[in-house]
Amino acid sequence: MKIAIFSSKSYDREFLNAANANRHEFTFFEPRLTRETVSLAEGFEAVCVFVHDKLERETLGILREGGVKLVALRCAGFNNVDIEAAKELGIGIVRVPVYSPYAVAEHTIGLILTLNRKFHRAYNRVREGNFALDGLLGFDLHGKTVGVVGTGRIGICFIKIVLGFGCRVLVFDPKPNDELAALEVENVSMETLLAQSDIVSLHCPLTPSTHYLMNAQSLAQMKRGAMLVNSSRGALIDADAAIDALRSGQLGALGLDVYEEEEGVFYEDHSGQILGDERLLRLLSFPNVIVTGHQAFFTREALENIAQTTIGNLDEWQQNGACENAVK
Ligand code: NAD
Repeated sequence: MKIAIFSSKSYDREFLNAANANRHEFTFFEPRLTRETVSLAEGFEAVCVFVHDKLERETLGILREGGVKLVALRCAGFNNVDIEAAKELGIGIVRVPVYSPYAVAEHTIGLILTLNRKFHRAYNRVREGNFALDGLLGFDLHGKTVGVVGTGRIGICFIKIVLGFGCRVLVFDPKPNDELAALEVENVSMETLLAQSDIVSLHCPLTPSTHYLMNAQSLAQMKRGAMLVNSSRGALIDADAAIDALRSGQLGALGLDVYEEEEGVFYEDHSGQILGDERLLRLLSFPNVIVTGHQAFFTREALENIAQTTIGNLDEWQQNGACENAVK
């Protein structure tokens, strides 16, 4: 198949080309797929996209007119695609449901450990010959209560790691994972989880019902001074409300791998410019906030799995006009 690959970086090319072995004809485009760039896809049978490509109804319509019959997502989430519109237009959507839950769970632990033990500050200090410990005081994770919102693939990996630290684990999920029965965790209401947790970690998808799950009201329900970590999707947290909670001390620390307005900012080098996003600048100015640029997935194993599953999806679609990893 002739495929236009959007939002492509050097690492995407490397892993996709290796997995493809010249079966499909790839054209790599660096820009994101949006209403403004959609004309690049004219004449292709499929587009291959990532988390910041925006496939709204109008863009999907233009894709269809240009011959595109399949959208192959290189990610698990599909909140950036108008699924209803795609269905009406007869465009298939396939995705990579699992590539490495370990990558995301382990990165989330990295955010927690960094916020707690301040590795980033220690790293800079010792390089300048400053070995003082003032300001680096952390706490034992052992014995602390960790609240896990969402117990899917990533949530379960994360739970297993924090159980290893000796944490008490509270979970909230409207459809709890069957694997939980074998783990020492407590199924509780969201209110109880917020009220009792020293650390709250979000592992649920972004849907209309989880949009701003963490808002002024739910942040106020948290234990005073607790830590909040989000490696799922930015809009699970109302960033303005989080800034207010950080300023008042209600929120003790915030770890973000995702941010609501990350499109067009994350995955690009803006070091020579002044960031236009006041809210992000504000967040970056807090000593108790760590932001990484949607990199939780970014391991060698994850990229290999994403590339192999994507090629498998394209093969299956080409042969059968259907695919097990189709978004229904
Ligand atoms: P999954 O589908 O396996 O699990 C999601 C879980 O969330 C399910 O058990 C579901 O029942 C639960 N859930 C749904 N609504 C909920 C709610 N209101 N409250 C609590 N739980 C709720 O998904 P996954 O593979 O574990 O991925 C979780 C999220 O991680 C994805 O949706 C995606 O947004 C994010 N993600 C981020 C990265 C990254 O690089 N930062 C990479 C992959 C995935």
